[in-house]
Amino acid sequence: MKLSFDLDDVIVQFFPSFLRFYNARKGTSLRFEDVTSFKLWEIGIGESMDDVAGLVHEFHDAGGFSEMSFVDGAQKGFERVSREHETYVVTSRPRKYEITTIDFFKRNLPYFPIERVVFSRSIFASHGHSDSKINSKAEICRDLGIDCHVDDYYGYAEQFEGGKVLLFNSPWNQNGQLPQNIDRVYGWNGMNGGNGVLQEIDRLEGKND
Ligand SMILES: [Mg+2]
Repeated sequence: MKLSFDLDDVIVQFFPSFLRFYNARKGTSLRFEDVTSFKLWEIGIGESMDDVAGLVHEFHDAGGFSEMSFVDGAQKGFERVSREHETYVVTSRPRKYEITTIDFFKRNLPYFPIERVVFSRSIFASHGHSDSKINSKAEICRDLGIDCHVDDYYGYAEQFEGGKVLLFNSPWNQNGQLPQNIDRVYGWNGMNGGNGVLQEIDRLEGKND
């Protein structure tokens, strides 16, 4: 199968690291479970999308994207799937973080071909912004012929047509009923009786029906 993975909060812990940075900066005590919206300004982090972009940039400049921890099970799980399948990483991180991102892969996932790390347009990039020339995640995955994409943001998941999407269960994607092509997964290895990424990929492959 051809697989693609979002990077932040699927492979590496973006929100946990960003919250540590933000709490230290602002004297707040926001927890991971408090991030009930991907639009951080809706939960009081900054007042607008531009404020949040500025905070993320400060986080980057403080080394935030260089020293990220892996999501539980991701380091081993991603290595396994990327050795067994043609695997891509499709991230909507702004291109200005490309060098930092590629460095992270070289240091932490050295077996993974760098040319398979693809930068997509962000759903939040406004029209007319230079980023709008870059394809969306759904377009990139369609062009690559991806069979299954894994993402934590419902706004990206719902753009996919045809292919399967695994929605990585997170406080900000509790949307209720999901369309037929989207399945919720609980971490990489499953929890509380729910399948994880690895079990769902095996299931899609027909390994353990
Ligand atoms: Mg993500």
